[in-house]
Amino acid sequence: MSDSDLVVQRKEGLYCPPGDFYIDPWRPVDRAVITHAHGDHSRRGNSHYLAAAPAEGVLRTRLGEIDLQTLPYGETIDHFGVRLSFHPAGHVLGSAQVRLEHEGRVWVASGDYYVAGSSADAREDNPTCAPFEPVRCHCFITESTFGLPIYRWQPQAELFAAIDDWWRANADAGRASLLVGYAFGKAQRILMGVDRSIGPIVVHGAVEPLNRAYRAAGVDIPETPIATEIKDRSVFRRALVVAPPSAQGSTWTRRFGDYSDAFASGWMQLRGARRRRSVDRGFVLSDHADWPGLQRAIAATGAERVIVTHGYEAVMVRWLTEQGFDAGAFATEYGHDDDDELPGDLGAAVAAAEHAADQVAESVSDAEAARVVVEPEDAPVDDAGA
Ligand SMILES: [Zn+2]
Ligand SMILES: [Zn+2]
Repeated sequence: MSDSDLVVQRKEGLYCPPGDFYIDPWRPVDRAVITHAHGDHSRRGNSHYLAAAPAEGVLRTRLGEIDLQTLPYGETIDHFGVRLSFHPAGHVLGSAQVRLEHEGRVWVASGDYYVAGSSADAREDNPTCAPFEPVRCHCFITESTFGLPIYRWQPQAELFAAIDDWWRANADAGRASLLVGYAFGKAQRILMGVDRSIGPIVVHGAVEPLNRAYRAAGVDIPETPIATEIKDRSVFRRALVVAPPSAQGSTWTRRFGDYSDAFASGWMQLRGARRRRSVDRGFVLSDHADWPGLQRAIAATGAERVIVTHGYEAVMVRWLTEQGFDAGAFATEYGHDDDDELPGDLGAAVAAAEHAADQVAESVSDAEAARVVVEPEDAPVDDAGA
């Protein structure tokens, strides 16, 4: 750390000294710049909020009455000599990277972001929000949620074909398809990606307020009745039901009678994750960049310095250093309320994978890391979106 750093770590969160504001603070502060509306990045209790304009609806849906100022992507404001602008992060509706410019230095804080893997391909963008925009900078503060070589997302067309096949087979057998994913971001990805001709789509009550905010922002989310409002339960026999993880195994599911369930998350790439979630199927769907995507995004910034915030920091810092970057990490309190919740056993599985990754980080090659991280799990990889 040096005196001229544009972002430093404080107990309240990531702080910009010359601008006197915080980015995604985890404790209440006066001025909070918000990258996106996931709960771990946008908390209650700040006096003033600044966010990208497309985030307004989802932020207000989640936080209620807040003192919120918004700024369209690409426009700048000046605060104590710091020029600040938001640039799309491709993660969820309104998600933004924060670009800071002060006395000739440019820093970008990514928040969470999604970008396709090894090549730019518009078909691989997250269709629920503006695609990730690379921003040139001297220092890039990157997330690293899936910063291990084992995380490589399959093409979205293949993934959604697999989800459609599962739903169609269930519908033909007269049973509901309960697809579990985080209510903000993941649910809307699912709703936009599936083949709407297969059958009716219904949602859990926690999903619908976010759907409304997306529709109000012009995103093509289908009309989705709430499951508890449906009186004729025969409807469920061909239905896709989209629900948050908290609904899984609750009495709420009894209304569906016979059903198959599945979990949509980047963590489904881990061996044994499906079994640990006790679901019939696992689909590897994430709103975060995979390992090649992280590498591509970081390279595109042209930054010589990279600070890793959350995820597999040790492995990512090691890899970046080997590539010649000036790399370090911030210890943050993100990652607890994001799209890929990690309750119970699955959290333990991820912790085990992180531990294994830390152990091999000493002498890591990609292939070695992938092997060591995968082997502690015991189930066959029959659940990785096949
Ligand atoms: Zn997020
Ligand atoms: Zn995050």
